[in-house]
Amino acid sequence: MPQTDRFKKNPGLYLFLPLLYMVWEDAVLTPSEIKSLNQVIAGLSWLSEEEKKILLAQIDPSSPPSPDEFKSWLREIRAVTDQTSTKKESLADLGLKLAAANGSKVKPEEVKPSLLQMEASLGIISRESAFYFSNERGTQTGKQSTQHSFSVDTLADILDGDQKDTIQKVKILLSDPEFKYIDSDNLNAYREKVLQWCKHLATQGCGSMAYPKEYGGQNDMAAYFAIMEALSYHDLSLVIKFGVQFGLWGMSVYFLGTEKHHKKYLKDIGTLELPGCFAMTETGHGSNVKGIETTATYNHQDKTIVINTPSEIAKKEYIGNAALHGQKATVFAKLIIDEKDYGVSAFVVSLRDKSGKTLPGVTIEDCGRKMGLNGVDNGKIHFNQVVIPMEDMLDRFASVTAEGKFSSPISSDNRRFFTMLGTLVGGRIGIPRSGLSASKSGLTIAIRYGDQRKQFGPEGGAEVPILNYRTHQRRLIPLLANAYALHFSLNYLTNRFLKRKEEDMQEIEALAAGLKSFATWNATDTLQECREACGGKGYLFENRIGTLKNDTEIYTTFEGDNTVLMQLVAKSRLTEFRQEFSNMNLFGILNYVADQAKTSITEKNPIIVRSTDDEHLLDFEFHLHAFKYRERDILTSAARRLKRLIDEGMDSFDAFNVSQHHLVQVGFAYIERIILEQFISSIEKVKDPGCQAILKKLCQLFALSQIDKNKGWYLEQGYMEGAKTKAIRKLVNQLCWDIRQEAVPLVDAFRIPNALLSAPIALKK
Ligand SMILES: Cc1cc2nc3c(=O)[nH]c(=O)nc-3n(C[C@H](O)[C@H](O)[C@H](O)COP(=O)(O)OP(=O)(O)OC[C@H]3O[C@@H](n4cnc5c(N)ncnc54)[C@H](O)[C@@H]3O)c2cc1C
Repeated sequence: MPQTDRFKKNPGLYLFLPLLYMVWEDAVLTPSEIKSLNQVIAGLSWLSEEEKKILLAQIDPSSPPSPDEFKSWLREIRAVTDQTSTKKESLADLGLKLAAANGSKVKPEEVKPSLLQMEASLGIISRESAFYFSNERGTQTGKQSTQHSFSVDTLADILDGDQKDTIQKVKILLSDPEFKYIDSDNLNAYREKVLQWCKHLATQGCGSMAYPKEYGGQNDMAAYFAIMEALSYHDLSLVIKFGVQFGLWGMSVYFLGTEKHHKKYLKDIGTLELPGCFAMTETGHGSNVKGIETTATYNHQDKTIVINTPSEIAKKEYIGNAALHGQKATVFAKLIIDEKDYGVSAFVVSLRDKSGKTLPGVTIEDCGRKMGLNGVDNGKIHFNQVVIPMEDMLDRFASVTAEGKFSSPISSDNRRFFTMLGTLVGGRIGIPRSGLSASKSGLTIAIRYGDQRKQFGPEGGAEVPILNYRTHQRRLIPLLANAYALHFSLNYLTNRFLKRKEEDMQEIEALAAGLKSFATWNATDTLQECREACGGKGYLFENRIGTLKNDTEIYTTFEGDNTVLMQLVAKSRLTEFRQEFSNMNLFGILNYVADQAKTSITEKNPIIVRSTDDEHLLDFEFHLHAFKYRERDILTSAARRLKRLIDEGMDSFDAFNVSQHHLVQVGFAYIERIILEQFISSIEKVKDPGCQAILKKLCQLFALSQIDKNKGWYLEQGYMEGAKTKAIRKLVNQLCWDIRQEAVPLVDAFRIPNALLSAPIALKK
């Protein structure tokens, strides 16, 4: 006889049905648990022997209920469950209700203690019961959904700022069917397409935007950067090809050349009539570009310059636009006059004729397929005694007089070289802005997908969007906060660059190096996380994250390797004191900085060390204090360490090497403080209360996640106690939970057109 029929005949047994259901649903009954349940059942004096026998049979592992029977149990239990109540009903309560509904006359006060005892023996499972039997499980997790507390358009306008029209124009252009993505597997077709796209943009005046009006431009560098940013929502090969042509090639002629070069070349560069390259790196010298070996030898007889590659490892390598399209290149080479080396200068050298045929003395190899950016034709160039006219030396910082003498306003070769590089710092602004746009695309795809994609849910309840899961939030929302934080700090860097004065250059270069590194590393981390957050869908080509990931990989290396750049930032921070204390030499500086360390200890206020209340932890004052303290402490301890090593007789090269890891942290601490400061000051300028409130939350999350990331250091220093770092971790989780509701509007505010985003999983219906 089916067990349910036995229950109908013995309605008192319904008291146990919820308990039995839970036992068979989930629990693995161990022999000792079966034993203890047997004992409880044996002692239930209000059960007849027949009922006890039936009940004991129900917990016999060798005779489980049939699947149909099991389902009918659930139907019966659900029929008496209070679906509207959010209060937990115990299994005993449900059993009592069921028994009463089926005509049992047992008195609740007599049986409930034993039922509760049995329930307790099921442990954790019984505690889930009331929610378990509900049809509509109103869990907190399930209920979280997208809300709008601010205007997406207003926030988008804040982000675009005064470049809104330019950005909008580029987005419209890119949404044209002409810019439809193409299959990147066909290398030749892809490279040709990317060239065509660049030509379309040149026709629209995008390429020459930063050049002076007399050479076809608009003299608008701010708009040029905005164009790079907006283009980066599209194919990144296009961005890099565009950047090589109009940025690296064009700007090197513009910044390193003089009027005669501008007149001769800029117009044709801006229209892409004259495709060109920026040839600095050599096989043997990448990060250490000062060590390049290509020579530019002055010839007194005909007043020409001979460009030559002296060895295999002196070939120019990875040069964008070189393998197929470049007709000319800015070539960096050591200037030799009368066998004397005058350091690195730049020269315009012809590579191909108009028909694309390589010129005599020039040999070009194709770098071939790469991990990404395959729409860009990178090549290796070898020069064999190539003669160029004297006027093609880019002579803003160095020249050769009519008498064949070297002349430069900057006497040191070293300083001249770094001054030259400093004028090209724009590339280190374009690349992080491009990396940030790619991160925004990835976040838009992953967050929209996370809002729609449902997996799991409470037993018996509906499945839940994956973005409601705390780990999913913890993975994506801090990266969303980083994207916003970087947006404002990169705008700050751009403005500093646009308004630069000579005396600001060292600081701007450090800012650019640090932000380039932080933003491009962040892009790599973000896109990896977005890929995983989209599961298998994230791996499909059509959803674009793979392409974005592969294409931005190299951002951490070109325009300066990030690790090398972070060391430059640190050295710049150490020598900045030289400007403040102009009469100090390096030792004086190190002494001064080491002294500073003594005072910083007093800043470890015991209240700050321990305080865990939310108001304090969410306060920007606290965040700034913590960031600045870390920055100063790491800087001073690095200086102390260097001083000690040098005092002990170590060579300064070795001392810097011993301290390298420390120095990279100096770079991080500096740049993180800048990012936080700029985020806070940008928020203060926002007038719209809704936008200001959400940006404030993002900023709090940025600050606290950085502190959480660096908590080992704060604990090591005694700046915080464990209770405080725990409270911060909790708050980071809470902020992720709160911001999740606005995550979709926050990525919508990036205003990435559907045609560019293209990923089916991210398209707005
Ligand atoms: C796709 C692509 C496009 C490019 N386009 C151009 C272009 O158009 N024009 C151009 O001139 N160049 C271009 N480059 C070259 C690029 O700028 C160099 O690759 C970059 O400067 C790094 O040099 P490298 O590859 O020789 O690496 P290396 O300098 O050899 O570095 C290798 C590793 O060593 C580490 N390292 C190096 N020095 C130190 C140190 N002192 N301390 C600690 N670690 C160190 C670095 O962190 C890095 O991880 C391009 C490269 C690529 C891949």
